[in-house]
Amino acid sequence: MTHLRIKVKGLVQGVGFRPFVFKLARALNLSGSVRNTSGGVVIEVAGRHVRDFLQRLRTEHPEISCIESIETESVETEGLPGHGQEGFSIVESEDDGTATPVAPDMSICDECLSELLDPSDRRHLHPFINCTNCGPRYSITRALPYDRQNTTMAGFMTCKDCSREYGDPRDRRFHAQANACNRCGPKLGFHVLNPGFEWCDSGEPVLSAVRVLKAGGIVAVKGLGGFHLACNAEDRDAVARLRERKHRPKKPFALMAPDLETIRRYCDVTEEDTLLLLSRRRPIVLLRKRSECGLPEEVAPGNRCLGFMLPYTPIHCLLFFHPPGMPNFNCLIMTSGNLSEEPIICGNEAAVERLSGIADAFLLHDRDIYTRVDDSVVRADFLIRRSRGYAPEAIPIGGNGPEVLGVGADLKNTFTLTRGPLAIPSQHIGDMENLETLKFFEETLEKLKSLYKIEPVALAHDMHPGYHSTRWAEAHPLEGLGVQHHHAHVASVMAEAGLTADVIGVALDGSGYGTDGTIWGSEFLIAGVEGFERLCHFNGIPLPGGEAAIREPWRTAAAWIQDVAGENALHYMDRIGFLDRIGEARVREVLQVAGLGEFSPRSCGAGRLFDAVAAITGMADKNTYEAEAATALESRAADGVTEGYPFTVRPSEPMTVDFSETLTSILEDLTSGADVGVISARFHNTVVAAVVKVVGMLHRLTGIRDVVVSGGVFQSLYIRERVMGRLSEDGFSVYCNRHMPPNDANISLGQAYILRERLKR
Ligand code: ZN
Ligand code: ZN
Ligand code: FE
Repeated sequence: MTHLRIKVKGLVQGVGFRPFVFKLARALNLSGSVRNTSGGVVIEVAGRHVRDFLQRLRTEHPEISCIESIETESVETEGLPGHGQEGFSIVESEDDGTATPVAPDMSICDECLSELLDPSDRRHLHPFINCTNCGPRYSITRALPYDRQNTTMAGFMTCKDCSREYGDPRDRRFHAQANACNRCGPKLGFHVLNPGFEWCDSGEPVLSAVRVLKAGGIVAVKGLGGFHLACNAEDRDAVARLRERKHRPKKPFALMAPDLETIRRYCDVTEEDTLLLLSRRRPIVLLRKRSECGLPEEVAPGNRCLGFMLPYTPIHCLLFFHPPGMPNFNCLIMTSGNLSEEPIICGNEAAVERLSGIADAFLLHDRDIYTRVDDSVVRADFLIRRSRGYAPEAIPIGGNGPEVLGVGADLKNTFTLTRGPLAIPSQHIGDMENLETLKFFEETLEKLKSLYKIEPVALAHDMHPGYHSTRWAEAHPLEGLGVQHHHAHVASVMAEAGLTADVIGVALDGSGYGTDGTIWGSEFLIAGVEGFERLCHFNGIPLPGGEAAIREPWRTAAAWIQDVAGENALHYMDRIGFLDRIGEARVREVLQVAGLGEFSPRSCGAGRLFDAVAAITGMADKNTYEAEAATALESRAADGVTEGYPFTVRPSEPMTVDFSETLTSILEDLTSGADVGVISARFHNTVVAAVVKVVGMLHRLTGIRDVVVSGGVFQSLYIRERVMGRLSEDGFSVYCNRHMPPNDANISLGQAYILRERLKR
């Protein structure tokens, strides 16, 4: 007798794949079995409708699963296939030494939500309700295969009813590994720290937390991938208090609203945004604020966008919808529970210890978070932060190759592992400057290596000798390859698009270490996997005091004005109100520093240009968080402005783009009282025009038609849309990051790709 053995690879574990196979096989009257292996799912099947089965396997698999390959072989057997039993069954998992993707964490599904709020359901108000279609995955998985004993649910014995559901193929919770109910599942706890809120403790954790929030308090809420700090976003005092306690003066807070309709009251929501907001990944989506938004300015000072997400865990749903009636809140702040730049906190004790100066009360639970994942952030069609709901999904990068590690950059760090045709980027790790983040990096690396059973043969790192990631790599026994920062940006897009031939690479960002030991940041490269040539960059502008000028762009602005206007500098600064605003003494001091070359390095980082223009136009004098000034400048750009300012491309080697005339024109515009929104738009258009012009020149020089754009500047929707649009109109094939953010989060992917391709050759 023969039967068919089917090996399915891809994202097929923890997404309801085996129950789907089971139901399909039963419906088609097949006998055999299905089992998870750490390489995927193996199905043994016999019967008249095997062909139908294969067909429907490909077309009807669960929404979240993703099939990468299906291999089949005919197997001779004595007796019945699979487990030697009549019919079809799910059998124990086995570990065969290869590995398969772990599913990302998913938001609560509609069915679970309606059960949660249904008084007659046995899971009424159960804060951990989930099923095979929804709930935690990556954050609770300790090892593969994805089975309960390999998750942080292992310690919770399922009750009789839950076990019955788990074993019943007709049930939505058939083989749901994290299945739980009010009787057997994890429990919530409530803990007040601030005595002023003790009266809120009703003995019922969610209701108590709601009371604290309604009374203007701050609650630390344990979520899926870590803690959130929550407060009522409509309560200006509460928001201001949170800012003060978190030492976060201006960086925008993320928001959560009960439903789409409420979000629409605050922001414009496109069709694309709607899909993202409702998707199982449930990212924070950056939306354009409506003019009559009504939320306090403190939520996101000076920002035209607000970051919204919908409730994604049953606990969030309870905070909004329990008790029944009107939602408890229109809008909650839900910001990462961490201390300034440290990683998000995930343990109960750590939370109470570290957040005690911020939170008035804690909403806790006893299901451990094994792996922390921050909320992901999306803007239009691209990612700003790739974390919960995305990680640890693999990205296909074409071809096959050795297993390597890219350790990433120091800001917005991620690392990337490769295996076969896949890259596995880590979730957002953070800024490497503090010890906590470095520990998080190491922990996550060990976890992903063991989950995917990857043993890298080499690693790649940035060339910056001062980066913590570089030092970590240098101390590592594996052989390391230094990859130039902007080359890595460009290569990350090549990896995503599977490009190996030379491209015109445009990398615009704040800064990155160059091969000549200076700081680069506006690079036009001819790049391949073997190397690159730097054919053009923007002209450097002075940064008096170095780092100080990055924190306070008015310093750069003053020095650049002096650079361009010479003797007339102070006169200009006076006429545009700059001297009054900053103070003449401080300006003169900075100009003196600017005169001393060694204390005033020049930077060709594109981000610094945006900084300077933001300060010159009076929109932002400081960067209290990364790209604050540039964001403020983009936020004010007027719609419908098409013209730009003059600039010059100088035929040096490498070529440079000189924006001196741009600055003179901006100063002229300002002194003649032009609208700063129009000036902002004109400046943006100038940068777009410069990119298009240089790319055109490089094309004439090399004949290359593939253009890659990357780097933090492309987080600007204004720049991104126009650069890509105009280059496409000019007949170029333009590529940008699709699976990774354009910012430094993609550096690790680029590093890994370059190393992997070189090892292959
Ligand atoms: Zn569900
Ligand atoms: Zn139960
Ligand atoms: Fe960068």
